[in-house]
Amino acid sequence: MLAFNVAQLLKEPTGASREYEIEENIEGLDEEIHPAGPLKGKVTFLHAGRYNILVTGTLEVPLHLNCSRCLEAVVKTIRVKLEEEFKATIDVETGASLHWGETVERCNLINSSHILDLTEVIRQNIIVNIPMRVLCKPDCAGLCPYCGHNLNLGPCECKREEIDPRWMPLKKLLEAQI
Ligand SMILES: [Zn+2]
Ligand SMILES: [Zn+2]
Repeated sequence: MLAFNVAQLLKEPTGASREYEIEENIEGLDEEIHPAGPLKGKVTFLHAGRYNILVTGTLEVPLHLNCSRCLEAVVKTIRVKLEEEFKATIDVETGASLHWGETVERCNLINSSHILDLTEVIRQNIIVNIPMRVLCKPDCAGLCPYCGHNLNLGPCECKREEIDPRWMPLKKLLEAQI
């Protein structure tokens, strides 16, 4: 569950806080995110001013990725650090509507039922933390540029044909003598 009712916390004095353990299956959260296990971590909700809840925490999720060199499947755990301020849209005491205009992102608003939903900020944070380059191992040999063979599995046929172009005249000369 990534949505939390914060009505009670908003009624408590500034400085009050809650801690939540998160363990959530995020399959289907985004087509760019391919989880290999649940999102896990701990978040703290701090009542940081009359209408404000500051959410901090660190979450981890293992993702299915592909090695940038050999394209083999790799599972890498990525870490997401949250530090997000959420604002109430209803005054919990009076029931009056609050309007923040352009000053607050839509995903950082607590809804009119006092539900603070972390789903969208977590989705955005995971997307920006997906590494551009991953390797299956530090010395991944990659693919042969000629035949596409995975060179981690051993050399391919093309390797033997490769010859330093500077030796070509000599090779021709030797062949002519045979
Ligand atoms: Zn690789
Ligand atoms: Zn090859």
